[in-house]
Amino acid sequence: MTTMRVAQIPGPKRPFEIVERPVPQPTPGTVRIKVSACGVCHSDALVKEGLWPGIQYPRVPGHEVAGAIDAVGEGVTHWKVDQRVGVGWNGGYCGRCDNCRRGNLFACETQQVTGISFDGGYGEYMIAPATAVARFPDELPPVDAAPLMCAGLTTFNALRNSGARSGDVVAVLGLGGLGHLGVQYAAKMGFNVVAIARGKDKDPLARQLGAAIYIDSQSQDPAAELQKLGGASVVIATVTAGAAMSAVVGGLAPNGTLMVIGAAESLQLSPVVLIGGQRSVKGWYSGMSIDSEDALAFSARTGVHSMNETFPFERVNEAYERMMSGKARFRVVLTMK
Ligand SMILES: [Zn+2]
Ligand SMILES: [Zn+2]
Repeated sequence: MTTMRVAQIPGPKRPFEIVERPVPQPTPGTVRIKVSACGVCHSDALVKEGLWPGIQYPRVPGHEVAGAIDAVGEGVTHWKVDQRVGVGWNGGYCGRCDNCRRGNLFACETQQVTGISFDGGYGEYMIAPATAVARFPDELPPVDAAPLMCAGLTTFNALRNSGARSGDVVAVLGLGGLGHLGVQYAAKMGFNVVAIARGKDKDPLARQLGAAIYIDSQSQDPAAELQKLGGASVVIATVTAGAAMSAVVGGLAPNGTLMVIGAAESLQLSPVVLIGGQRSVKGWYSGMSIDSEDALAFSARTGVHSMNETFPFERVNEAYERMMSGKARFRVVLTMK
């Protein structure tokens, strides 16, 4: 195989085009991955719509990659051909800058993002820095693993770093691509899980995913309902509406935390509510490759599943529109032959 097909964005706001390119050779410190499946994440709109400064086009998006190592570059000692691996949003780290030296790898000064700084997984092959690569368990099919590389990792990692303890009330705000995974993880982690979303019709789904309680934010006041339970130790906010986040802050228990992982434009809160209850608002970066490994292994062990709509790679434009419509139940995944 000397050529491959990729789905590239030729420039901002242009449709995907499927083109043939030579199969790239791994450079020192990188591996080549034969892609089996790649999730279509809302953040791919940053490439498609030209919203990320400094992107060089054409660009191949895709940061929910699942496949297998196909070749390793010079100096790569700990990865082997045929290992099943994934790549997520984090595009590796240098290990030498001050942030890396302090252990804050996510804040590495090189700040590479898969599918934005370099070509991602919407193609038959991709090159990834070895530091960005995560192993995934044999029992997970690639289509199941792909969405866990971003949506799964982000919710899993935010929850396990939230400070909540087993038995605590933990609320998941939103029941979409992130939220439907968040509820499952929170339940498997042993929290008393409350799901908050709009509309009564989501109640059965929330309970099926593992929520003990469902709050319909259209007919109920979520803050008041959470307070009836003694307040939430943590609310994981997966929605992209700032107003919906603002509406739950009053439902936090003393010392409770609003963990923000949904990229809302702005958020309004009362400092008095924060001060009076020593409450905090915290953002959470998705995670590093080792966190992805933990998320994948946890998912395989506990049966956490992403619900996916799959599209063959050739139908990438349709898959993207489906994801952007907000109607997909719940993640959209491209599959390669
Ligand atoms: Zn993503
Ligand atoms: Zn660094």
